[in-house]
Amino acid sequence: MADIQDASDAIKVAERIQQELSLPLKLDEQEVFTSASIGIALNSTLDYDQPEQLLRDADAAMYRAKALGKARYALFNRDMYASALARLQLEADLRRAIQLHEFQVYYQPIVSLLSGSIIGFEALLRWQHPQRGLVSSADFIPLAEETGLIVELGDWILYEACHQMQAWLVQYPHHSCPKMSVNLSGKQFSQPNLIEQIRHTLLSTGLNPHYLTLEITEGVIAQNDDEAVAILLQLRQLGVEISIDDFGTGYSSLGRLYHFPISVLKIDRSFVHPITTDNRNLDIIEIIIALANKLGLSAIAEGVETPQQLAILKNLNCQSVQGYFFSEPLSSSQATALISANPQWCC
Ligand code: C2E
Ligand code: CA
Ligand code: CA
Repeated sequence: MADIQDASDAIKVAERIQQELSLPLKLDEQEVFTSASIGIALNSTLDYDQPEQLLRDADAAMYRAKALGKARYALFNRDMYASALARLQLEADLRRAIQLHEFQVYYQPIVSLLSGSIIGFEALLRWQHPQRGLVSSADFIPLAEETGLIVELGDWILYEACHQMQAWLVQYPHHSCPKMSVNLSGKQFSQPNLIEQIRHTLLSTGLNPHYLTLEITEGVIAQNDDEAVAILLQLRQLGVEISIDDFGTGYSSLGRLYHFPISVLKIDRSFVHPITTDNRNLDIIEIIIALANKLGLSAIAEGVETPQQLAILKNLNCQSVQGYFFSEPLSSSQATALISANPQWCC
């Protein structure tokens, strides 16, 4: 916009746009509502040489507006500049890291409370950063999702995890045969060639699909709905199991849950963590376990750290658990050593 004296002029325009957009639109006799997140950058804040720089900063401000909630506006400031720069840096680092093979897969055991033995592993992505050391996925997965890099990374980890699982099956044919769980992001889930890609990975690693479980969050199926059921059915037909990750933190329609071809509900750590101090979380876990039983699914409690939490979960008849109490995520060689030790936790 030309002729802007100060920020208040731009804000007035942003407010007017939002007001206009808040009115319903008619599409085929249906009333439709929409909203906009608006980022504002002023030429006077920084001395810009290029129009792209102004657009970049307005974009950063728009992301801040989105983070504040729906239908908001935000004004660009120098702090955002620093965080926008850090994001750009991280994105460039991630692209470089893919090329330089700096990613590793770590494996966290999932333990049966009935037998005390390992019934599976969850594959978790780690980044061996040349300066920062081992970086946890929580610090880069959200950006990888946003930029779409997660698709490439996701394909890679799926291959690595299937390959590892097949190697363990060959190496330890007489041990209880665990399953491999791999996280599937929303972006990956909506790839048109998802089924083909998974089929291809299974074929090239030689892994029987029955040894693979894919973890998806409630949000992923809620977003896609009917299409999601069709994809899940195709995965089931392939022989792959589906697990709902972080269950209880999203907005699953319980009615629809019944129709989803899933096998496992993973109870989110945020319910498990406070169970020794907060009865409400205990009730929620009890309800999720009852729901899983009723639907013929198994429940895995995530983030078990203490013997107290374990005792409570056992009391609630939770079948399986995962968490630092048993083991942190392990490198491939550490996980191999664990399988070969064949541990029996007396639960
Ligand atoms: P998630 O799928 O819920 O994975 C469990 C996270 O909890 C892991 O964090 C794990 O290290 C951590 N954890 C396990 N036990 C405990 C415990 O007892 N206490 C505590 N405090 N934490 C525990 P991580 O590896 O940092 O992963 C964070 C998230 O990043 C994952 O949450 C998952 O959503 C995502 N992620 C990780 N690897 C991948 C991947 O390969 N693909 C995709 N799409 N997402 C991934
Ligand atoms: Ca997971
Ligand atoms: Ca989880």
